[in-house]
Amino acid sequence: MERLLLHVCCAPCSVAIIEELRSVYGLTAFFYNPNIYPEAEYLKRKAEVIRACGRWNIPLVDQDRENERWEERVSGIPQDREGGSRCSACFRLRIRRTAEYAREHGFGLIATSLTGGRNKRSLVINAIGRAVAEPLGLEFVREDWKRKGRQERGLALVREMGIYRQDYCGCRFSLEDRRKGSEI
Ligand code: SF4
Repeated sequence: MERLLLHVCCAPCSVAIIEELRSVYGLTAFFYNPNIYPEAEYLKRKAEVIRACGRWNIPLVDQDRENERWEERVSGIPQDREGGSRCSACFRLRIRRTAEYAREHGFGLIATSLTGGRNKRSLVINAIGRAVAEPLGLEFVREDWKRKGRQERGLALVREMGIYRQDYCGCRFSLEDRRKGSEI
């Protein structure tokens, strides 16, 4: 079985992906989400990912929060709404760290649950994933995890397991947008 390192952004987006991929690959989950603000929310989301992985005994690599690194990476980028250049930088940072870890630890394949998010554009994320993975000699599994019934399966698992569902994407800007009542 080929080994795949799956970057997981949160439990609601990743639970159906984990369920699907665990029988196809030698799967390891990778939690690296320095965007999540505040820390209490980060810990809450991480605890749910630990719980989701525990359901199928999937090993989980827990990286540091490194919120300063994320802040540094997005500083100077015009702070537009979700989906703009700040988000591309955010995706790139998270996928790059996943790819670096994969290369250091002998994985040939990487993927991310990010395209499972209902507002996430798979074309953008998959292009970033490929551009990051290929120079490191890795294959990025391009998918839109919202499709082929995964979104519905994810919702069913979230209900069944009572998984916490956040109401903003993750960073302080998206939290502010949610507080202002705009859609995320
Ligand atoms: S809105 Fe989401 S994807 Fe965009 S920068 Fe914030 S956390 Fe990252």
